[in-house]
Amino acid sequence: MNTNDTEVVWAVLQKNGYERCHEAQQADVIMVVTCAIREGAEQKIWHRLKHLHAMKERRSARRGPLQITVLGCMAERLKERLLERERSVDVIAGPDSYKDLPRLLAVSRHYQQSAINVLLSLDETYADVMPVRLNADSPTAFVSIMRGCDNMCSYCIVPFTRGRERSRPIDSIVKEVQILRDNGVKEVTLLGQNVNSYRDLSNIPSNTTEQITNSKVAPGFHTVYKTKVGGMRFDELLRQVAETAPDMRIRFTSPHPKDFSEDVLRVIRDYPNVCKNLHLPAQSGNDAVLERMRRGYSRDAYLRLVDTIRSILPMSVYQAIFLWFLWRN
Ligand code: SF4
Repeated sequence: MNTNDTEVVWAVLQKNGYERCHEAQQADVIMVVTCAIREGAEQKIWHRLKHLHAMKERRSARRGPLQITVLGCMAERLKERLLERERSVDVIAGPDSYKDLPRLLAVSRHYQQSAINVLLSLDETYADVMPVRLNADSPTAFVSIMRGCDNMCSYCIVPFTRGRERSRPIDSIVKEVQILRDNGVKEVTLLGQNVNSYRDLSNIPSNTTEQITNSKVAPGFHTVYKTKVGGMRFDELLRQVAETAPDMRIRFTSPHPKDFSEDVLRVIRDYPNVCKNLHLPAQSGNDAVLERMRRGYSRDAYLRLVDTIRSILPMSVYQAIFLWFLWRN
């Protein structure tokens, strides 16, 4: 997610006249894209900020001030408290405020004070921003399809730092995949906090009721939120992307087990370019722990889902050999 966020930020800044340099010493603005999922990730950022603080102090007045910007989940979690510990930070922007960065940088520069925007949005998906790829020669690329999460697992900070779940319109995703294909990319990973609960509410066809259905969760699973109504679901998105780029490999991450409907599994089965490997986060094999984690399933429901997956996506000979090899070693 942070790699993709960096590419979105870079697109916003480039459009506003900023240029990228490859040495921190040459920069007038340094952006630190942060993660708050574990304490270790935040510790790394504190160390980096200390280093940048020293760099700012050493900078000659002739070059003008160095602006230090903290972006992403740690910025969202700590908000102005970040400044209490590290006063050298000039701009703080949460994951939904990247389009505001040119203004925040200008305000901070003009008034010589910190500028902050950590408002979470109900609809920002950056659908209208074509990310600038950090490595334009790479044969692989990420395509963000949704942001935020509504699941509220008890141990996770994501719903608080990335906000409510919202999906990017299918048309803009398909367009981005087409552009990537035309630029020689061979593999795309559809990206989101909970990709398979994707629902595009912007493009409901008027003449069919087939796709206008409620969210389906796998049998034995439940959610903390009310059933979501309407919209184009992940199986439809996956089908459209697979048909748009039949010569590209299509992957996705991260899914939630509850959203592996049989419709999604059938699309994976039916399109050869959709990679046949699933990331199925288990989190725990203990029912009491799963309950405390508020994951919405039991060990038994999870194992029944694995059986359903196996019945729709049977193991290939190669996968069986690979598993046998792992088991032997
Ligand atoms: S589904 Fe994933 S991102 Fe959402 S709250 Fe649970 S662990 Fe966090």
